[in-house]
Amino acid sequence: MKRSALVTGASRGIGRACAIALAREGWPVCVNYLERRDAAESLVSSLRSQGFAAMAFQADVADRKAVARMVRAVSETMGPVELLVNNAGISHQGLFQDMDDELWNRILAVNLTGARNAVQAVLPHMLSEKRGAVINVSSIWGLRGGSCEVAYSCSKAAVIGLTRSLALELAPSGIRVNCVAPGCIETDMVRALGEETRAMLVEETPLGRLGTPEDIANVIAFLASDRAAFVTGQVVSADGGFIV
Ligand code: NAP
Repeated sequence: MKRSALVTGASRGIGRACAIALAREGWPVCVNYLERRDAAESLVSSLRSQGFAAMAFQADVADRKAVARMVRAVSETMGPVELLVNNAGISHQGLFQDMDDELWNRILAVNLTGARNAVQAVLPHMLSEKRGAVINVSSIWGLRGGSCEVAYSCSKAAVIGLTRSLALELAPSGIRVNCVAPGCIETDMVRALGEETRAMLVEETPLGRLGTPEDIANVIAFLASDRAAFVTGQVVSADGGFIV
């Protein structure tokens, strides 16, 4: 049976670890990226050298037509997408009062509309086969408020709404929709905050460390697998106890 997994934003960080984990679980994987072609292609070469099927595809998830083109290309090359991980995301720190239209719209376009675009592109096949799984990547900041991260928090809370509503709508079609809410994870996104903030986040995390991308990839691989066949509409936090 030919089928494949699409991980958006898989050139770096959590998406990269997720693509590796899914390849190890036997999924042919598409590594989507926005700009870092070098990183995406090096991941694909590494996966292929280990005997896994993989391809890279550039597409801005906020661009509905580009996402549709990507899903068509993946289906033709590796098999129809039966697992979608909506991981691509951007963040921004700043006062709400200073946020202009451009930034507000871009954060929502990538983090929320990007997931919508990808789900709508993969759904026709999933609906016709009555099988498939979608995993959305939210954040602890979608579960509780994030000062100076209002747009990001809104987009990540909306991803939880998307997960729960879609899970109900798609359950009769045998399609599962779940969500992972990572805590503070050691990636470029958190490194960009600087050493002082990073240390503060470690301090605030009961397990006393930042998470690794693999900590999140393991949860995603579980939710993608048949071991989670009866799990849908859930938000699984992997945050070292940040929100208890
Ligand atoms: P990251 O290290 O900044 O990597 C972001 C990835 O998304 C890159 O592969 C990037 O591609 C891709 N990307 C960005 N905009 C895109 C777009 N418009 N279209 C397609 N791809 C795009 O981020 P991360 O920390 O791994 O975060 C991954 C996800 O986890 C995000 O949704 C984030 O909000 C969420 N999250 C992260 C943390 C954390 O602490 N790190 C915590 C909670 C939730 P290029 O390499 O080509 O730029």
